[in-house]
Amino acid sequence: MKIETLAIHAANHIDATTSAVIQPIVLATTFERDEDGGYSKGYSYSRAGNPNRLALENVLAKLEGGADAAAFSSGNAAGMTVFQSLKPGTHIIGPDDMYHGLRNQLKALFAGILDFDFIDLNDEAVLLSHIKSNTGLIWIETPSNPLLKITDIKKVVAIGHERGIKVACDNTFASPLGQQPLSLGADLVMHSTTKYLGGHSDLTGGALITPKKDEWWERIQQIQQMGGAIPAPADCYWLTRSIKTLPYRMRGHEHNAGLLALFLENHPNVEQVLYPGLPSHSQHELAKEQMLSFGGMLSFLVKGGVAETERVINATKLFTSATSLGGVESLIERRAAIEGPDTKTPQNLLRVSVGLEHIDDLIEDISAALDKV
Ligand SMILES: *Cc1c(COP(=O)(O)O)cnc(C)c1O
Repeated sequence: MKIETLAIHAANHIDATTSAVIQPIVLATTFERDEDGGYSKGYSYSRAGNPNRLALENVLAKLEGGADAAAFSSGNAAGMTVFQSLKPGTHIIGPDDMYHGLRNQLKALFAGILDFDFIDLNDEAVLLSHIKSNTGLIWIETPSNPLLKITDIKKVVAIGHERGIKVACDNTFASPLGQQPLSLGADLVMHSTTKYLGGHSDLTGGALITPKKDEWWERIQQIQQMGGAIPAPADCYWLTRSIKTLPYRMRGHEHNAGLLALFLENHPNVEQVLYPGLPSHSQHELAKEQMLSFGGMLSFLVKGGVAETERVINATKLFTSATSLGGVESLIERRAAIEGPDTKTPQNLLRVSVGLEHIDDLIEDISAALDKV
């Protein structure tokens, strides 16, 4: 089945008791035992399992072409589960522009437990020189945030697998419609479902998806159930509801982002546009090869400094000045301001999460704002 069909049907079944067309939300925290003391229906206690979570995990696994999925209460909880699943002393290699929330998590919570380096994954020599005997995981994030750099998943997987190193991919920016890391050889996919999968800026969640149910996966499931960073049944319900429209939302996001990128590229007050779908993107060819679609995230550099850049944000009416991404509404953010003093992000960079408003309205609004620079 195609992804549009899976998105609608893989997390739903007609309710056996009422014939309701939509699977109901099961709020119960505990489930009745059989006469022999067992749990033949598969549920005992909600931290260990819930029908809405199971439905969500089923559709998440199918969207990424995986064997199984585990849902979490946030993207950071999903990432933390991966790090916790590694043996103490394991060395992780991550990208130098890794999502700052997870990079900071490693530094603040795993220093002294795990060993890590953040490097330019696209430089093969640099990558090879950082691999050590205790390297157990390479963490990829592509396209990267906020520079929209592309990492060659197949190439990194080949380098890792040759040395017995697992490769995980944060697929939040691309969404399962933009890129299928498992089909390119990755051993694990991570999502912040807060973003495109949720799609309406109204729920927080995370997910991990595996290509096979191996020992590592059993450990991850154990941490999910014993650690308890699980999403509530209602959040699982809302997420499965949102996922039904994900394929069509992603088409709209990509359509708008492509046109907005072209407009910005031709504007005299714009220094540079970073969008993998633009032929001017330095890795456009790799993006075309690896991605199924280019997604809805772009960044652009305003001609000028902090003052000019902030003037653009303050002059827009349709783009809300806020962090996060993937919702139906367009957001704009001066990324260096949130990443803090040690950021390498240019001070005049604006990151845009292109929403599903009409593209003519978006262009009219940003055009008026850029004229004020
Ligand atoms: C938001 C985000 C995360 C973290 O997810 P939360 O749901 O905020 O915990 C991780 N990776 C990327 C790329 C993100 O954009």
